[in-house]
Amino acid sequence: MLLVFGFTVRFTTLAQLQFFCPRCGGDRTGARRAARRWFTLFWIPLIPMKRLGEIVECETCKTRFDSSVADQPTTADLAAVLDDAVRVLTAMIVRTGNITSPALRSAAVTEVARVMAGYDDSVLTGDIVALDPALAERYVTPLADGLEVAGKERLVSSLVRVALSDDTVTADQRRVIEHVGRGLGLTPAHVTGIVTSVVSEREPDPDPGHPA
Ligand SMILES: [Zn+2]
Repeated sequence: MLLVFGFTVRFTTLAQLQFFCPRCGGDRTGARRAARRWFTLFWIPLIPMKRLGEIVECETCKTRFDSSVADQPTTADLAAVLDDAVRVLTAMIVRTGNITSPALRSAAVTEVARVMAGYDDSVLTGDIVALDPALAERYVTPLADGLEVAGKERLVSSLVRVALSDDTVTADQRRVIEHVGRGLGLTPAHVTGIVTSVVSEREPDPDPGHPA
């Protein structure tokens, strides 16, 4: 009698999870699965052998990844961090500017309300009291890897625009903006470029050749 034996790898599903699938390029449902080698006889797994570790399998594209893929933030995680960052940093811009300026406060409320329904001047007042502008950098560090450059530029630009609603960027506001840029992994030159471009789009150079 011919004895047919060999080895096979079987997967046991441990849990479901949401993760960012690099193959699909988006948030997907995946399964965390444990891999184990089995000894087979006549193609039937008989004896569990070595544990081979865990993988994460995407339910959409079926690609198997090393389980460390689950450590990457999902798009939903990043969006939540970004919304919080907009709220926190905008309040810091008010705090480091002319805190009683109606134009500044109104621009700040409008900016934050885009990402947080129900945000108003009284919530802003609470945020201003609670937040320490020295921590601006820390709020955006999680975005340094996950956010595209265009998204980083949008965030910095929006802060500059809020500051400019009160006509000028104060030295303290500028410091917050610089800390944000550093936390996002942008070079100081890049941040200066963003500030300059927002300032110039707001105050176009007078064009003498153009009739008023
Ligand atoms: Zn996938």
